[in-house]
Parts: sequence; structure tokens; C-alpha cells
Amino acid sequence: MTEREPVPWAQLAADDATVARYSERVYRRAPDACWWWLGAISDTGHGKFRAGARAAGTSRVVSAHVLGWIVEHGVDTLGAGLVVRHRCDEGACQNPTHWVAGARADNIADYYARRGRLGGPLADVRGAAGRAVAVRDAILAALPGGPEAVEAAIAVALAAGHPSGAQQDPLW
Ligand SMILES: [Zn+2]
Repeated sequence: MTEREPVPWAQLAADDATVARYSERVYRRAPDACWWWLGAISDTGHGKFRAGARAAGTSRVVSAHVLGWIVEHGVDTLGAGLVVRHRCDEGACQNPTHWVAGARADNIADYYARRGRLGGPLADVRGAAGRAVAVRDAILAALPGGPEAVEAAIAVALAAGHPSGAQQDPLW
């Protein structure tokens, strides 16, 4: 099996070990907040991880939020050409209520519409990947201090992406 073969999404989403590995990398917060990915981050700022099992021939590196979507909604909800979009513009976010299925063109249109928003995620000077990595590392460092320390660390990590001091109120 190579990485180029189709991803066996239905099998992966039904694999308890895969779902458990996915779940333990999600930092869950308040229902409306972004739930950050604590695993690997792609060049585009999306969560990545190795799903499946080599012995079963299902081992693949997949986008975390796509697996999360399929676990939540089933593989049939992602038809041809559909992608899982982030309404919060945080590609690493794993909060299912922040996802929506849509066309790739919608994603691109959103990007151009929102990237100029001062203080918004798409205007982060570190880029999407740098932002997601900074938040992930801040959470991991703050975890021993408990949830309040983590919330403070997330706020600092997000603000660091906007040296001008611009801030956008959370959309959620
Ligand atoms: Zn989010």
C-alpha cells in the first residue's frame, strides 16, 4: 500500500484504535471554543496523523479534521469535490461545530474575503502552520498548570501572531 491509494475512510472511522488516537490529540475546551490539535501540523496548518494499521493495510497519514468529520457524520456526507471547511478559519481546529462541508472554491473565496481581517486567523504573520504550531506548543507547555493556565497560554500564543496589537473578537 502506498500513500497514493484512496484513503479507506469508512474503515478508518470505524477503527476504535484510530478514533482513540485521534481523540487523545484533541484539546477539548468550551463547546463554542476552538479545540486545538496537539499532534503534527501540515504546511497548510491542518492537523495530521497516522490512522489505521499496517497489518490491516489501512495505514495512512490523514488530515485530522477530515477523519473527525467522517467519524461524526459518515463518509457519505463528503461527496465528490467536497471538502471539510473551518468556519472559524483555524485549520487545526477539531471542534465539530466549527466544521461545514463545502466546495473547495468556497474555501478559496473565504480565504480571500477574510485574510485581510485585522487580528483574524488568516492575517497571522506566522502563517497558518506557524500559528497552529505556536498554539499547540503553548498548550503542551501549559498543560501541567491546568485548564486556566492553558487558556492563558492560548490567548498569548494567538496574540503573538498580530504584533500590531490588532484583535478580532472570537467568532464563536
Ligand atoms: Zn474552531
